[in-house]
Amino acid sequence: MRLIMLGAPGAGKGTQAKKLSDKYNIPKISTGDILREAVQQGTELGIKARTFMDSGQLVPDDVVIGIVEDRLKWDDCRNGWILDGFPRTLQQAYALDRMLERIKMSVDYVFNLEVDEDEIIKRLSGRRSCESCQTAYHIHFNLPKKKGICNSCGGRLIQRSDDREETVSERLKVYKERTEPLINYYMEQGLLKKIDSNEDINKIFEKICSYM
Ligand code: ADP
Ligand code: ADP
Ligand code: ZN
Repeated sequence: MRLIMLGAPGAGKGTQAKKLSDKYNIPKISTGDILREAVQQGTELGIKARTFMDSGQLVPDDVVIGIVEDRLKWDDCRNGWILDGFPRTLQQAYALDRMLERIKMSVDYVFNLEVDEDEIIKRLSGRRSCESCQTAYHIHFNLPKKKGICNSCGGRLIQRSDDREETVSERLKVYKERTEPLINYYMEQGLLKKIDSNEDINKIFEKICSYM
């Protein structure tokens, strides 16, 4: 199963991708997670990406395309994958099409998580993420078992620097300009499944799973 999660920042892509990954035993590939890890480790990639991420801009296409191209070659991708946060521009979508064409594979579904803007803001402003494994929690909607501590790895929960209010509005603007056009792109290819996502996490998951 090869899936793409589309949706605004904070829509719940990572949350649903993680559940799908656990249920179907296929990797969740999140370009945001990979980039944040590189920033934490201070690698060349991280140094390059940091200023873009901190200002709510997209990291340049060639950089993220390279990341995904490498990651899709890993052994664990043989039975499928879930892309979370990629593609985010038409250039990235075209590049993905070319990659898949080369290995004679195709995408099964593109799930577009539709969430009202005021709900998006609530989700982003209350998000807390595990410092070590990046799992997302929420201070009202998705609490960890132990306050401030990640359920799956025991790591510390922090607020991402780009989830602060100043950066959120820029990210939403960038989403509308650069990423929203992908909805039409995948609709025209007959791959898009719209998922009304103004609901709780498990309801959304059920709706997604009904396609699989
Ligand atoms: P969210 O899902 O909350 O928008 P992500 O973790 O997916 O956040 O992304 C965080 C940041 O990482 C983005 O604002 C952007 O700077 C960078 N990024 C992640 N994925 C991509 C991508 N596919 N193309 C360009 N930049 C990306
Ligand atoms: P994205 O990957 O699209 O940026 P996340 O999966 O990180 O989004 O979710 C953003 C925030 O909203 C997180 O704090 C998460 O716990 C919370 N969240 C995710 N799905 C829902 C939902 N259906 N209802 C309420 N909160 C949610
Ligand atoms: Zn963790």
